[in-house]
Amino acid sequence: MPGVSGGMTAVRRRVLVRPDVIRFLDAEAGSCAGRPEAGGTLLGSRRGPDLEILGWTVPGPGDDRRPHAFTRADPRHQAAATAAWNASGGTVAFVGEWHTHPAGGVAPSAVDLRTWKRLTKANGRPMAFALVAPGEWGVFLARPGLPRPVVRRSRPIEHSGLGVVFA
Ligand SMILES: [Zn+2]
Repeated sequence: MPGVSGGMTAVRRRVLVRPDVIRFLDAEAGSCAGRPEAGGTLLGSRRGPDLEILGWTVPGPGDDRRPHAFTRADPRHQAAATAAWNASGGTVAFVGEWHTHPAGGVAPSAVDLRTWKRLTKANGRPMAFALVAPGEWGVFLARPGLPRPVVRRSRPIEHSGLGVVFA
């Protein structure tokens, strides 16, 4: 059939964001305006092709927070991921990052896309990213691909007591 590629039959990966993570991102969206960028990791587990976001880390004193940039450098982010991995018996891990755009907009910058693709390539598996702006936030899924990883925005498709499913 003309125009139909193998990619169209690919599994549409979902990202489940748990309620406390939703509340955290909502709170950041409500407080990030006028402050330097903030950010951290997203911690979660993998269920087949899907990701479940269960936790996060917040900025530490070793991070570089600027009006238009956030560089995650504080060792506590890695320590939290290692602790979550150990406490969960190896099911919860570093699965992505979040950061704020205090000046507005949840569109990833060129630097964001480069960083996300680099992390996804290094990880070798799909990763989730969240961007938080005043009054809104968005979820992006990056998956390994050739010649380079592919990033696209995921939209909320289902709300339940377990959280919000993005796909
Ligand atoms: Zn950014």
